[in-house]
Amino acid sequence: MATHTDPQKYHGMKYRIYFAGLFLDAVLLAVLLFGGLSLALRDYAAGMIGHPWGAGALYILLLAALFSVVHFPLRVFLGYYWEHLFGLSKQSFPQWLTDELKKGVLSLGLSLVLAAVMYSLLASAAQTWWIYTGLFWFALSFVLAKLTPTVIVPLFYKYKDIEDSDLRARIKKLFADARVKLGDVYAIDFSRKTVKANAFICGLGGSRRVVLSDTLIDNYSGPEIATVVAHELGHHCHRDILKMMAINSVLTFSGLYIIDRILTRAVPYFGLNGIADIAGLPLLLLVFSVYSLFLTPLLNAVSCRMETAADRYSLERTGDPQAFISVMEKLGRQNLAEFRPNKWIEWFFYDHPPLAKRIAFAREYRPEGMKK
Ligand SMILES: [Zn+2]
Repeated sequence: MATHTDPQKYHGMKYRIYFAGLFLDAVLLAVLLFGGLSLALRDYAAGMIGHPWGAGALYILLLAALFSVVHFPLRVFLGYYWEHLFGLSKQSFPQWLTDELKKGVLSLGLSLVLAAVMYSLLASAAQTWWIYTGLFWFALSFVLAKLTPTVIVPLFYKYKDIEDSDLRARIKKLFADARVKLGDVYAIDFSRKTVKANAFICGLGGSRRVVLSDTLIDNYSGPEIATVVAHELGHHCHRDILKMMAINSVLTFSGLYIIDRILTRAVPYFGLNGIADIAGLPLLLLVFSVYSLFLTPLLNAVSCRMETAADRYSLERTGDPQAFISVMEKLGRQNLAEFRPNKWIEWFFYDHPPLAKRIAFAREYRPEGMKK
């Protein structure tokens, strides 16, 4: 199979499939709500299991199964076929499917926990359920962020030590210069699954660590990797994970409040037995999806500001714009990134500034004190 290399073609399909997925979700939710399918599923679940909690869980499982079946062909096409067509994935189909199943079980487990808490609150605290649900969501995302490095990442990747002692010394110095105690920088085995390279910071408090893909460590020079680590260090020093969590929580509270207002009015319209009727879940999902969709550009803009600040931090710490530019160019080629995406695409899909902008930023960067 000839490998395709055109980033525009690669991403163009991703955007099309994204909107196809949204369209399918809208159709499914409409059939569930307006076609009476949700009520039928609720009654079926109640007929199968007498206990209301069990019936609620069965309803959620059926709903999840329905969405999974509809989305599965799109996921196979984009996640497996398309990645292979462009020579980016190294996974066999069973390996890819195993990762998908793990993600599915994880999100189903979280959804069941969240739904159990939310529906017991809807049933017992009709006026204030959205406040307590928001608080629970915040606590849950806190625990998840805390567990990401030690529990979630290892579900998909193996940690490796960074063996190159020069590189280790270089990274140590960066941390020491920044007076940051966090000393944990790990490699993960991206190379088993993909040819792409990446780096990220995850965790909260003591669990926080910087993670570099082995595909980055193996193909980039010490000064290049240092600019990437310094960028992640920038996120750490600016407390970006915590800031994003705080912003998300505020938005979650307001989203839940909007759901409360709509749900209360919609009960008679959709034939629900009150706001705590599980058959109203598709309405909740619909409102939340539309709400999130509208917020996406706003969250992207916030994220892009944080990314630019982390880039500036990296340039300040390393004083090496040349290495930074070379990383951006190499990463872009390796990951088939679009250097200059269409501005609407950028507005809706980009939570990092496009590479051409990051490179231009580094070219124009002058250290503090040297600015005129
Ligand atoms: Zn970043």
